[in-house]
Amino acid sequence: MRQVLLAPLLNLRSLILLLTVLSVTCLFVFALFFVNYTVKERLIDNSLALNAEYSSRIAAHTNYQFEEILKNLRFSAKLLGQDFASASLRNSETARLKSQSGHFNSVFLVDREGHIISFFPTSLKIDSKQIHKTLGITESLKRKQTYISSPYWSSTKRLIVIISEPIFDTKGQYLGFIAGTIYLQSKNLVSEMLASKYGYKKNYTYVMDDQKRIIFHADTRKIGQKVQVSDGLTPMLQQQDGAFRLMNGQGIESLIGFSHIPSVNWIVVSQQPIDELFAQANSIIINVSIGITLFYFFIFFVVWRLSGLIALPLNNLAKMASMLNQPEIQEKINRIDPVYFEVNQFKNSLMLSSQNFKEKIDELNQSVNTDPLTGLYNRRGMKLFLEEFVRVRTEFAVLAVDIDFFKKVNDSYGHDKGDIVLQRLARLMKYHFRDNDICCRSGGEEFIILMAASDPVTVFQAAERLRKAVEITEIEEIGIVTISIGIAYWPHSSEDVEEVLKMADQQLYQAKRGGRNCTR
Ligand code: GH3
Ligand code: MG
Ligand code: MG
Repeated sequence: MRQVLLAPLLNLRSLILLLTVLSVTCLFVFALFFVNYTVKERLIDNSLALNAEYSSRIAAHTNYQFEEILKNLRFSAKLLGQDFASASLRNSETARLKSQSGHFNSVFLVDREGHIISFFPTSLKIDSKQIHKTLGITESLKRKQTYISSPYWSSTKRLIVIISEPIFDTKGQYLGFIAGTIYLQSKNLVSEMLASKYGYKKNYTYVMDDQKRIIFHADTRKIGQKVQVSDGLTPMLQQQDGAFRLMNGQGIESLIGFSHIPSVNWIVVSQQPIDELFAQANSIIINVSIGITLFYFFIFFVVWRLSGLIALPLNNLAKMASMLNQPEIQEKINRIDPVYFEVNQFKNSLMLSSQNFKEKIDELNQSVNTDPLTGLYNRRGMKLFLEEFVRVRTEFAVLAVDIDFFKKVNDSYGHDKGDIVLQRLARLMKYHFRDNDICCRSGGEEFIILMAASDPVTVFQAAERLRKAVEITEIEEIGIVTISIGIAYWPHSSEDVEEVLKMADQQLYQAKRGGRNCTR
């Protein structure tokens, strides 16, 4: 029974639509994943290349500047070595170095004990009698060669790096050194260049020394600190320049480009969080999705219209297939436009079937197949119809009808009166059922209606209509008779027609047992 109700839900049109929705949705989802993946990979590759290029351009330029600085320092050191005792030469050289190049924030001269014996600008508060033991001075004195310090706090309380050059006299005796400073937290050579020359990207470009201490950073609080992510940074320490992806301790991934400044052994790092990049990618993907969705609706609309065109003729023919016994069916079939091959074939075979059916009906209408008392089909006629229904596979219901307490009618009013009751009942049947429902007298006071319908609700309603009509029909001299009805379906109750007839009889028996004058 459930099957009967569910079957009509899936027709050709819904199948086409379902298939389209499924395939387009799959395509949509796949395209989205693919675009997402490709766009992000491309963005990462581009960004890595950009960061590498950016840092290497900065490094190359800075390197050139530092080579100049070192050359200047060496020249001064040589000059001072020739006459280190001359205070006027010492002062003029520090002043010249500071003023001429503009690379240093200050320049100072230290003797081999660690006294700062000359400095520029002279406004600095430096005690020249004191021995200075800051990192830059101690290391320069110890190494006695060109030295570039890590960031450290100077005696004037500034975070600085120094670049120092040893001074030797003409006999090669060590006299001290000359050094230039860069104030890391003020405007200086590196920050100037990053800010002006290459449109420096505020948060993500920094310079660190080979100890991973930050020399320059847009956030001045970070200057002098050590860069934290230790393991991931190894490519930077091993290669001259390059780019790579880095995951930090908090799980934030960055794209890093780097390049060494060979003259000072510092590293320029250009760093970009991957999230920021993906935000761009996501907005591209959202735009693509909107585009695809609009297209999706367009496709859906087109398929919806087309599926109607494809499915409608087949749907109409399918409906007609179960109404082949209707008189005007051939005309209806003819009106269907054979838009494509299957429709045409289906149409032709339906025409043939209905022609056959018509011939069969003519044959059935012959008197051998009808009951003379009621004019309904007799058992033989009923058999022919059953065969035809099964042959063209028209679904139908069997209604077994039996008059209640008919023996009493015969006993009380005589056999002739009984026959009148049978005739009245036959008239009511013909009146309440359509032309294409087959009403038969299957024997004595038993009737069978073959109803060309498979929906239990429709069939039950038709049966009840007849039962109620009989119940209120007054027959002269006899009064009211009632009937009981049992229903079964072909092919849903059984594929075997004999079995279906038996089942209808069993239902009728149930109706009798249930008190008669009812439908089961
Ligand atoms: P139930 O409600 O159980 O059907 O009771 P019922 O009396 O109708 O019992 P049943 O169906 O067995 O009755 C069959 C009776 O129908 C037997 C016979 O008297 C009567 N009958 C059979 N054929 C004819 C006929 O051609 N004409 C007349 N008048 N009566 C017939
Ligand atoms: Mg009876
Ligand atoms: Mg009976």
